[in-house]
Amino acid sequence: MELKIIRLPEDVINQIAAGEVVENPASIMKELIENSLDAQSTSIRVVIEKGGFEYLKIEDDGVGMSPEDALLSVERHATSKIRSIEDLNELTTMGFRGEALASIASVSEFSMKTSDGKEGTWISLSGGRFQKRVVCARNQGTTIEVSSLFFNVPARKKFQKSVASSVTQMRRLIETISLAHPSVSFSFQVDGMEVFKVEEQTQEERIQAVLGPFDHRSEGRSVFGFFKGPQEAKTHRRDQFIFVNLRPVVSPLISKAVKIGYGTRLSETMHPAFTLFINLDPKEVDVNVHPQKREVRFSDDSRIFREVEKCVEKAFFQEMPLQKPIFFQDSDPFRMHYDFVPSQVLEEEKNTLPFLLNERALFVMDGYLFLEKEDLLLVDLRGAKSRILYEEMKKSSQEKQTLLFPLEVEIQEDANLEEIQALGIECRWIGRKKIAVDALPILMDVAQFPLFLSSWEEEKQRLERASVRFCRQLKRGFSLEEGMLLWRRLQTCQDSLYDPMGRKIWKKIETKDVEGWLRA
Ligand code: ADP
Ligand code: MG
Repeated sequence: MELKIIRLPEDVINQIAAGEVVENPASIMKELIENSLDAQSTSIRVVIEKGGFEYLKIEDDGVGMSPEDALLSVERHATSKIRSIEDLNELTTMGFRGEALASIASVSEFSMKTSDGKEGTWISLSGGRFQKRVVCARNQGTTIEVSSLFFNVPARKKFQKSVASSVTQMRRLIETISLAHPSVSFSFQVDGMEVFKVEEQTQEERIQAVLGPFDHRSEGRSVFGFFKGPQEAKTHRRDQFIFVNLRPVVSPLISKAVKIGYGTRLSETMHPAFTLFINLDPKEVDVNVHPQKREVRFSDDSRIFREVEKCVEKAFFQEMPLQKPIFFQDSDPFRMHYDFVPSQVLEEEKNTLPFLLNERALFVMDGYLFLEKEDLLLVDLRGAKSRILYEEMKKSSQEKQTLLFPLEVEIQEDANLEEIQALGIECRWIGRKKIAVDALPILMDVAQFPLFLSSWEEEKQRLERASVRFCRQLKRGFSLEEGMLLWRRLQTCQDSLYDPMGRKIWKKIETKDVEGWLRA
């Protein structure tokens, strides 16, 4: 065989390049929808037959193209979106490589009708070869029809998935894209049946319409997200939708940050359901790392990671403070004021929990919380904690946190494990005087558990005394947030005024008290 180097003809180059961008009907649809979005369309309609292999049409009402641009658009590396590589630093469009139309046209029967509002153009190509260009009538916007996909690349055709799985994939894709563009209406028609349709909506309405209700919402500097509760977590990540500058991406980094934000609410194998938008200066993201732009690279991973994690924590903290696992932290002296946003959950419980709303945490001093709720209130946090812990452990079905690693603790040889288990502590013997703890009541800090156990033994298994003794011994300070969480949780206790040993937990501070102090 003669091995001589030749330059590949343009249509072969396009077909080879097409391998990267146009993998299947879904990836074609993605490119075309992105073009319609870049063209500022307000309505995008997709119609397919036979999973998009036979026929795929996309219609938009965007800015359209002039006759000259229409001709150029199907040439490789022809784009209106960037002029130089530096423009990637300011990129606000979805496309930028100028490859999609040329690639799609090179592996199909391709036809495009477009109008910039002045003149309509209709062009067609077959397997990348130009067929005709005629003047036509069309309102401003663009219609692209792709049929007989891969008719000239049989090898590619062979590797295609079934019609059904292509439809599923395309539907998920259009739904996903629609999440990030609530002001655009989308419709998706499959073999004559409309299977998805959304009209212009607000962001919340769109998310709710496509994915159902979300319980938690939170915003940070450059991220905002919607989170479903831990009970809706799955063993897969398909319910996770991540957008970076409105592009849907797959990001193990972000998934992990969100998961960490859920904390001990989730076991190791479960993945939360959420939709998260990250909006960054285009300079801070590299979108040019994946042919289908499915992955991105951040210039500062760790900052994004922390921000996402915080955003999730905040979502739960604001809206469901009663379920947040509480860990001990030293109080942060710089955060003396903190306004709490009443959540929906709390809103509903307003009548039964008179102290919950319109309160402002002032500061924590040595285990005492001062808060304002019309009057000034003083709360003994150790007392509050002992009451909460006591009632929680007394219940038959306690809220628990599964520990990532079992905790090993020394215990008396003759200890009665059943009694301990009844407190909501999952544990088992692993030695003659040693147990492994797998789960703890949600309010029990892991590091403090051995201390609790010794209080339990010293107080001869009397829970009232043990919980008070344990909390009195806690050395470390309480943060303001933790103080408020305890205060709120206290409101749900049967007795919220006294600790299990009958000591008062909180009191209103009145002018006469203050006068008394001063005159004493
Ligand atoms: P890219 O999107 O990377 O620029 P494409 O091959 O996808 O490359 O598109 C080439 C050009 O064709 C775009 O830059 C744009 O100017 C034009 N174009 C494509 N689709 C549309 C559309 N639906 N409406 C208006 N212009 C379009
Ligand atoms: Mg494009």
